[in-house]
Amino acid sequence: MSRQFISAVTVVFIATFTLASCETLESAPAKVAARADTKSETGGGREGIETGELNQKVDACTDFYEFANGTWRNQNPIPSNMQRWSRRVAARNTNQQHVQGILEELSQASLAMKTGRGGNTEQLLGDHYASCMNEAGIDALGLAPLTPLLDEINNMRNMADVQRVIRRLHELAIPVPFAIASATDYHEPANTIANIVAGGLGLADRDFYLQAEPRFVDTRAKYKTHIVNVLKLGGMGDTQASDAADSIFALEKRLAEASLNSATAGEQVTTDHKTSFAQLKQLAPHFDWEQYFAEAKLPRADLNVAEPKFIAQMDNLLQETPVATWKSYLKWHLLDSASPWLSSPFVEESFSFREKYLGKATAMKPRQERCAESVDALLGEALGKKYVEKYFPPAAKAKVQEIARNLFAALKNDVRTVPWMGAETKRKALEKIADTNLQIGYPDQWKDYSRLTIRRDALWANVVAGRKFNVDEDRQQIGKPTNRNFWLIAPSSPSAYIDLQLNKLVLPAGFLQPPYFNFAASDAVNYGALGIGLAHDLTHAIDSNGSETDISGRPQKWWTVTDRNEFDRRAQCVIDQYEGYAIEAGAHHDGKRVLSEAIGDQGGVRVAYLALQKSMQQKPVPMIDGFTPEQQFFISWAQSTGAAMRLEAQRQYIKNDPHPTPKFRVIGPLSNSPEFQQAFACKANAAMVIPPEKRCAIW
Ligand SMILES: [Zn+2]
Repeated sequence: MSRQFISAVTVVFIATFTLASCETLESAPAKVAARADTKSETGGGREGIETGELNQKVDACTDFYEFANGTWRNQNPIPSNMQRWSRRVAARNTNQQHVQGILEELSQASLAMKTGRGGNTEQLLGDHYASCMNEAGIDALGLAPLTPLLDEINNMRNMADVQRVIRRLHELAIPVPFAIASATDYHEPANTIANIVAGGLGLADRDFYLQAEPRFVDTRAKYKTHIVNVLKLGGMGDTQASDAADSIFALEKRLAEASLNSATAGEQVTTDHKTSFAQLKQLAPHFDWEQYFAEAKLPRADLNVAEPKFIAQMDNLLQETPVATWKSYLKWHLLDSASPWLSSPFVEESFSFREKYLGKATAMKPRQERCAESVDALLGEALGKKYVEKYFPPAAKAKVQEIARNLFAALKNDVRTVPWMGAETKRKALEKIADTNLQIGYPDQWKDYSRLTIRRDALWANVVAGRKFNVDEDRQQIGKPTNRNFWLIAPSSPSAYIDLQLNKLVLPAGFLQPPYFNFAASDAVNYGALGIGLAHDLTHAIDSNGSETDISGRPQKWWTVTDRNEFDRRAQCVIDQYEGYAIEAGAHHDGKRVLSEAIGDQGGVRVAYLALQKSMQQKPVPMIDGFTPEQQFFISWAQSTGAAMRLEAQRQYIKNDPHPTPKFRVIGPLSNSPEFQQAFACKANAAMVIPPEKRCAIW
């Protein structure tokens, strides 16, 4: 599955760890980032928990969240331009600095190297980054790097020419007006097939073209002006650009009318259309699929058409739309896609519409950051290799593997003892756990970039080369057995993801850093952070989410009706518990909304605790800073989860997010845990203790 078209159907970026995706969209001021960075630079950080961040004036048995995080919260006000702040957000900034540091160093080192085909990892990374940082050189070239492709577009005379340009743009991952990418077959997950998806819109989805709400109307007006500005930068006169923008918008609107909105386009039920190659040719007879598949070296085998109505509409438009309109449309999308890598006027125009207006960004990201993102997108595994050398030594990988082994064993033991699952369901659950494909740090096999040429003096040529490499690599997956070892994100990435269909969990080296994992820290600290998060995610494969997908990845309910009823009866206890958690008077959690994640947290805490106990039989954890291993474990969860969030953001969060707020991700599972009560010797009537007869237990 290509990075550009990650299917929302099966791939979930792990919110257990990353908390919520919107956090990642906010970039913190450099001042705050630098402060957050100091700890992890000092040789990997502390062995124990962050004692300086506790508020020991508060009783751990009364408000454990405040106890674990109070001083940290006082010392870490939310930056003024952000809605929340946490150690997890800080970790993203640290990651960015580490990656930029590697690239700065390599761009100096690669000066001395010979540029050319088959360059080594250092040359590829160093020269691409240097080519991107050379703003003066890029500005001097202006539009020149795009001239050959623009000429090809300008010289189009007929529909065959239009289709040839569409094929050229697809090689650069520009999805006009559709895209083909590899996808796991819904019906035979062991196979990877071609997936034809709708594309071709310059705005996010159909609503922006068709809805009457003022915000959409405003966006449409701004969008048209943006197209005009870009076309003018591309050499068109005022009137010509204005007319072209009208015809481009009209064409996109026709495409939008036949496409799904972004929510529906991510659902299997609406996008599952297995189609033979012959049927595809009937669906859109005016598109030359034979030529396309031959050039792209794709098998003429069964494939999926995510939105048949869209492809049929595209076929109509191929017949009805004049070549002149296609010229404007294809030129616009090429310029739009290339703008961030062209001269300053293009970069600024693209920023002002896409990031400032649509994305509400207050300032353009520094060039170093944008260039590092380009390296990540185009040369992700080359970058990952260097990152791993510096920040994820073999011993760290071995430690994470050991933690994972103990978590798997503890989860299996736990499943064997849960009272609500029948014997047959338990057997299937245990099989599914054993089948989990857990990828730690980096892929087993590194990508071979030796056929890629990267130059120090040609950013756009490098972007083209990198995109072609990645598109080609994606196409090579099609028609083959599904490669479970294929990564969708770079090993240096600070994110992690689950692929539910492939029963696969990917934890990149960039993610296996503080506060989730710290090689210098005690096992108790690591089981409390990474351990609980990972155990939480392992339970999703066999909980009510995972109960809808069988071990082969097919949609299939494998719990019995009795299991389901018993589960629901126990789940009601969790619903009631979280309904009782309020962020302010009158605003409490919706127990049903957070049910699945709350159960995951409770299971995560229990399983990771059992795994730590098992590990300590061989490798005891000492008392550190006066805290027992069990206390370190619980404090570590509270500290790695802790976050400060503005009240307004919390109000939105409880309405939209499937997770409890950070505070209740700590208080909820721990107040249910007899082991927590024991670790802090809490009295039976303490606020952090739910009486035994009222405790909720699923796992
Ligand atoms: Zn979860």
